[in-house]
Amino acid sequence: MRSRDETLRTIEGGSFEVCVIGGGATGAACALDAQLRGLKTVLVEAGDFAGATSSKSTKIIHGGVRYLEEAVKDLDPAEYHVVNRALHERILMLKNGPYLSRTLEFLIPCFHWLDAGYYDVGLKLYDWIAGDTGIFPSHFLSRQETLRRMSTLKNDGLVGSIAYADGQFNDAGYNIALVKAFVESGGTASNYLRVTGFQKANGTLAAADVEDQLSRQKFVIRSRAFVNSTGPFADTVRGLATPGIPPRMRLSKGSHILLPLDVLPSEDAMLIPKTEDGRVLFAVPWMGRLLVGTTEQEVGVDDELCVTKEEVDFILRQLNQYLETPVARSQVVSGFAGARPLVSRGGSDETKKLSRDDELEIDPRSGLISIMGGKWTTHRAMAEDTIDAVQKSLGVPVTPSPTRNRPLTGSKGFTPVYWMSLVRDHGISEETAQHLAGRFGTTAPSVLEIAERDADLAKPIVEGLAPIRAEIVQGARDMAVTIEDVLSRRIGLEFFSWRYSMEAAPVVGSILGRQLGWSAEHTRLAIAEYVDKIDRYLRVAGLAPDRARDD
Ligand SMILES: Cc1cc2nc3c(=O)[nH]c(=O)nc-3n(C[C@H](O)[C@H](O)[C@H](O)COP(=O)(O)OP(=O)(O)OC[C@H]3O[C@@H](n4cnc5c(N)ncnc54)[C@H](O)[C@@H]3O)c2cc1C
Repeated sequence: MRSRDETLRTIEGGSFEVCVIGGGATGAACALDAQLRGLKTVLVEAGDFAGATSSKSTKIIHGGVRYLEEAVKDLDPAEYHVVNRALHERILMLKNGPYLSRTLEFLIPCFHWLDAGYYDVGLKLYDWIAGDTGIFPSHFLSRQETLRRMSTLKNDGLVGSIAYADGQFNDAGYNIALVKAFVESGGTASNYLRVTGFQKANGTLAAADVEDQLSRQKFVIRSRAFVNSTGPFADTVRGLATPGIPPRMRLSKGSHILLPLDVLPSEDAMLIPKTEDGRVLFAVPWMGRLLVGTTEQEVGVDDELCVTKEEVDFILRQLNQYLETPVARSQVVSGFAGARPLVSRGGSDETKKLSRDDELEIDPRSGLISIMGGKWTTHRAMAEDTIDAVQKSLGVPVTPSPTRNRPLTGSKGFTPVYWMSLVRDHGISEETAQHLAGRFGTTAPSVLEIAERDADLAKPIVEGLAPIRAEIVQGARDMAVTIEDVLSRRIGLEFFSWRYSMEAAPVVGSILGRQLGWSAEHTRLAIAEYVDKIDRYLRVAGLAPDRARDD
């Protein structure tokens, strides 16, 4: 990608056909779709790309088994629409980002034959809705087969499980790959650029006031259409366009924890069908850890999103009912929390009852096009609808969306064994090869070239772990400007282990600082700030910050 300074020079005072506000999954997909349809597009993100909800998901590409249950129980067409649309998008998301996603089998352990019958019928319906986009049909697994695949599962009273297929993906990686695809197709994108207001001509939006969050410099972006894809912050931007507009968003905090994989050593994921508060909970193998979540609690737009001790205990209580050996809080290695952007249709329903459907709003006063709600799985379809609306508002013909069959950069030539060619051609360890293939696909050799030019950059970031220092340089090229941008969304080490990511901070700070021209003092402060932040995550989650490295 171009350097941030270069990009800012292009944006400053520039004139565009579409300005997309918000660089999460929805905004990145909207920007890509618009640019590929030939519209000159700019994407502005107030923090880092994927810095908000889009890197805090359960990382499942799914129609939503629970939403299907609700659609049937409540005869709710909105829930049915979400499931149907997501099941059909699922296959496109898997196909377009093969190195960032995979199919995954989910087991629902059953302790009563009646439950087995209930889930079996429900999942047959799930298969039927997916139709010819199905991955493979759901089926019953005997008690013996269930325990063979999940050896640490509680076996007292287990009658078997229902297995069904969905997808799994690297959400932050997918989001950044969408932004890269947008830039490679000629678009202009910058992170840390916040829209703070609008300027109007004849009552409709003509320009956005933006503030660079790093230099505090202010400037103006002129555009013919503005897309508000700010997820949980949609009401704030709607309010900037039309002060006093009634709010639509309700935010529901969801927290996840990560545990060592040997807690549930399995290739498959587990779905816990009913938690204490009547929802589902997932335990999913992800990047060498077991990802478990989520909780659901309504929050405000300004609330801090950290995983609390109470949430850790809630999640462990649900999980432990399914395990022979209970997991203790001290085994938690990391966690994260995000806010689901849900659209309210009036009434005071609990957030867990609000539909995950999306809604497109064209404000007749300002012309602002807001795309609200939805799911990661439906990001592409939401973008397609949004850019159809943009073309209509610009008075140009609506052209077909080019994103249905458009593999992301790094997908061409990728196979599940691609990593072996990295071992063979570059002499790196299997772990590093698998890690790089999973993050960069077939563009991994360009990261290895960085390492081959400087032996220091071929070293691991943390001794004994797969990520290498060259990825920090690549992170800077992919617009990372903080230590957290690198460790969380470019490399993923922060999700693997809070303690390892604290250990990695000095190396990341020093290499990133060199790339970005930081002073020694700036580097020292950036490292201290990051370590303090992780230290706080540990404390709020009820974990001892000073414990030694994770196993
Ligand atoms: C706990 C949890 C689990 C989930 N699990 C799944 C799952 O497994 N599968 C699935 O399909 N979906 C899942 N989802 C839903 C999915 O994550 C969200 O629907 C999706 O990430 C929303 O993306 P977004 O781009 O709309 O919002 P965001 O990712 O929040 O992006 C909005 C962006 O707008 C930026 N912004 C805000 N104000 C401004 C401004 N003034 N100027 C510029 N930029 C601004 C923000 O910084 C932010 O980055 C989950 C959600 C949560 C919370």
